[in-house]
Amino acid sequence: MASVAVIGGGPAGLIAAEKLAEADISVTVYDRKPSLARKFLMAGRGGLNLTHSEDLTNFLARYGSAEKHLTPFINAFTPTALREWCEGLGEPVFTGSSGRVFPKSMKASPLLRAWQLRLAKLGVELRLQRDWRGWNDKGALVFTNTDGAEETVSPDATLLALGGASWPRLGSDGSWTKYLADKKIAISPLRPSNCGFTVKWSDIFRAKYAGQPLKPVALLFNGQRVAGEAMLAAKGIEGGAIYALSSPLREAIAANGSAVLHIDLKPGLDEPQLADRLSAPRGGRSLSNFLRQEAALSPAAIGLLQENQSAKNMAAPELSAQIKSFPVTLTGTFDIDRAISSAGGIVWHEVDENLMLRRQKGVFAAGEMLDWEAPTGGYLLQACFSTGVGAANGILLFLNNK
Ligand SMILES: Cc1cc2nc3c(=O)[nH]c(=O)nc-3n(C[C@H](O)[C@H](O)[C@H](O)COP(=O)(O)OP(=O)(O)OC[C@H]3O[C@@H](n4cnc5c(N)ncnc54)[C@H](O)[C@@H]3O)c2cc1C
Repeated sequence: MASVAVIGGGPAGLIAAEKLAEADISVTVYDRKPSLARKFLMAGRGGLNLTHSEDLTNFLARYGSAEKHLTPFINAFTPTALREWCEGLGEPVFTGSSGRVFPKSMKASPLLRAWQLRLAKLGVELRLQRDWRGWNDKGALVFTNTDGAEETVSPDATLLALGGASWPRLGSDGSWTKYLADKKIAISPLRPSNCGFTVKWSDIFRAKYAGQPLKPVALLFNGQRVAGEAMLAAKGIEGGAIYALSSPLREAIAANGSAVLHIDLKPGLDEPQLADRLSAPRGGRSLSNFLRQEAALSPAAIGLLQENQSAKNMAAPELSAQIKSFPVTLTGTFDIDRAISSAGGIVWHEVDENLMLRRQKGVFAAGEMLDWEAPTGGYLLQACFSTGVGAANGILLFLNNK
């Protein structure tokens, strides 16, 4: 019986282990943590947005420059297939009003329990608390256990599914990049994606509004407009609408040192409607009372507007233009430790059409360690599952030809 080592027990590695074991391969999953899929469980705290129900053309476009690389894998294991897989494990799914797909339990733990049971029945072996350290000079995989002792294995094929570098305490810290770089495999640096951004708030604003939501708002950058909500933080701004723009914002900051995001603080009214309301006489009212009473702006939105010292002297048209497009200068990203996901990874020309590393025959890669990024909405997990299935199919082909 052929043997495969799957290194990384997140969704990409586990779905590959399942497909391989179903094909009568002897599979061992290695993970450095004492339990599997910790990031998947963390995703479950937000309801576990598994995938999205939009049509496949729009769905695939969410992967930007990686669309063409991911398309064959997502076509082969589609959002519908992922929903059916989840339901097959006894976890019915539903589609929310935004089109996002979740298990009805809104949790990852029951799904993971059922999944681990299925893997055990299929004979998948687990070797936990095994930290992968690359290859030795004989080409064997090297692991260290909790005592620091080395173990080596030489399976017939290997799947690397080691994740990106966000939330490293959950297991994935990108330490694998050095082992692949030693083999001259090109890696695009791991960078925060779906992350917050730093802003130099005034001390007064920071003290008063850090931790408060800014909603409803629409964010504008580079011709893209995203409606939703943002969260004000002591060191900047984060939240769903910001995450959706994180890729172009991050790249603009990398190129220019900073990026100016415009915030529409009153998305429900157009500029003339707002100007009309703000043409009411202000009388003795403070700017803050005036904006609350005439435009129903939230305290956080008013506080933000007051970050511009000259706002208090603005006439209605100018003030309404500021409210509809308030500029905020972003100076950097929050640390990757708190990002939802990573951009970067193994560049696509390093893997063949079956996700095998061209420079390491018999070694495949899947999941977030490949060079793609996507917004939140279920696109992250879908790509991890689809590339996991794709790599398993590639391994089966490789073993057949061997
Ligand atoms: C807070 C949060 C919420 C999220 N919510 C969602 C969501 O709702 N929907 C969505 O689509 N996505 C979501 N994501 C993203 C999603 O969880 C990840 O994209 C996905 O888990 C990546 O899967 P993976 O299998 O590639 O890697 P991972 O899940 O990171 O798994 C990799 C595994 O490899 C192990 N490992 C790493 N290095 C080594 C080593 N050297 N030796 C041994 N083992 C190692 C790790 O311990 C880990 O178990 C969320 C992420 C976070 C942080």
